[in-house]
Amino acid sequence: MFRTRTLNRQARHWTERQQRAVAAYLGLALGDALGATVEFMTPREIQTTVGRHAELTGGGWLRLRPGEVTDDTTMSLALGESILLAGKVEGLAAAQAFDQWMRAKPVDIGATVRRGIVHFRTTGSTVSPLSEQSASNGSCMRLLPVVLAYTRRSDAEMAQALLCQGRITHHNALAEAGCLCIARMVRMALQGEDLPAILHGPMAWLIDENELFTFRRRRPLGNPSGYIVETLRVVFEAFVDTDSFESCLVETVNRGGDADTTGAIAGMLAGARYGLSGIPSRWYERLDSRVRQRCITQALSLLDLV
Ligand code: MG
Ligand code: MG
Repeated sequence: MFRTRTLNRQARHWTERQQRAVAAYLGLALGDALGATVEFMTPREIQTTVGRHAELTGGGWLRLRPGEVTDDTTMSLALGESILLAGKVEGLAAAQAFDQWMRAKPVDIGATVRRGIVHFRTTGSTVSPLSEQSASNGSCMRLLPVVLAYTRRSDAEMAQALLCQGRITHHNALAEAGCLCIARMVRMALQGEDLPAILHGPMAWLIDENELFTFRRRRPLGNPSGYIVETLRVVFEAFVDTDSFESCLVETVNRGGDADTTGAIAGMLAGARYGLSGIPSRWYERLDSRVRQRCITQALSLLDLV
């Protein structure tokens, strides 16, 4: 069982699904905090400067404190709060939450996200223009609260909600297909489905939709950018080729590139798959304590939304 006493005490009263949901949210934050240290580095640079990166040391180009998270986590929390207030994913509420989030000067913000929020500010529209340049990972990194809020809704309702939140900044077919795949993977993992079911379900569906997403097992493809295709291929490889929460995140972030975001997406998947007992207590203890508590509280509240 999980070795951190405070969380252990709380978790005793949680159902299996609640534990997996909390682990997914903590996984998102942990992958973000772990990966941010090596964001924009190549695997070779990571190897020569820190060896195997496996601790929450902070630093990186953003000069973070150990355990500090970036936009991947804080934007998810902002979206989650808007879902709780509106009782569902609502375009205007989500766009306003993103706008507020940007006004609070987040530690980092992606170019596509910024463009989408500025578009909302200037036009009032919650749908950004259809764009080939929006095939990036920013709508995918923040989708976890949608999955948690829609656990009792149909796949079609969840898909609609994903489009609604995603198109505020990323109006692009590749980004949308990637979001739907990751959301379905998290949903299945929360239900305790095993890897073969996830591989033959949403992962096979995505590759069938677009063969660009094809990934190669046990033959790492290198250094992922923020392009949704490169991001998800690295996440898929690590998710399939590892057998624990820790090894999945370490494998993912040591590819460098957009490592906080690959880490965040791998973290939500691995958290849902392995549950709370898979999370190393040394990582949990290091994670920013305010963020940690917000992730736990929000995960439980979102699951309670009907
Ligand atoms: Mg980030
Ligand atoms: Mg990033």
